[in-house]
Amino acid sequence: MAKVTEKSLKARCTELNMGPLKNTTFGIRFNRTGKGYTVELQYRDATAAQILVADVTASEASAAVEGAALGAAAVKAAGGDKPEFVTRETFIRQAGERCPKCATRDISSGQLSAGNGMITRQHSCQRCGLSWNSIYRLDDYEAAVPVTVET
Ligand SMILES: [Zn+2]
Repeated sequence: MAKVTEKSLKARCTELNMGPLKNTTFGIRFNRTGKGYTVELQYRDATAAQILVADVTASEASAAVEGAALGAAAVKAAGGDKPEFVTRETFIRQAGERCPKCATRDISSGQLSAGNGMITRQHSCQRCGLSWNSIYRLDDYEAAVPVTVET
């Protein structure tokens, strides 16, 4: 295998971004840091970049780049060539404040319905028109602090 250099990494990222990753929702990017290389997925919408590896050597960075390209190829082969929605993890990280499809905060919240330790709330996106339910799970309880009235 040819030695991986910053130049070959850059060429490979460009090649992937213009080729196999062109019709996906993300591109791949690497940065040189003080400690090595960082490889990240750069989404084409407002979703925050996802760091795959940080502070690694050029050949490790190259492996991460190839891994991501393979993953994208697999997604494409499976027919989901445009992953339209964010993952559950991303949705939670965004505290449910963004549309899971287009990531805008311009969403409207509707009715709550509760049952079985869960609350679901209807939302819809003002930008792309998506409707979804956000699901909240029971987490804990807090005893009410008794109020003592002095007489
Ligand atoms: Zn939307």
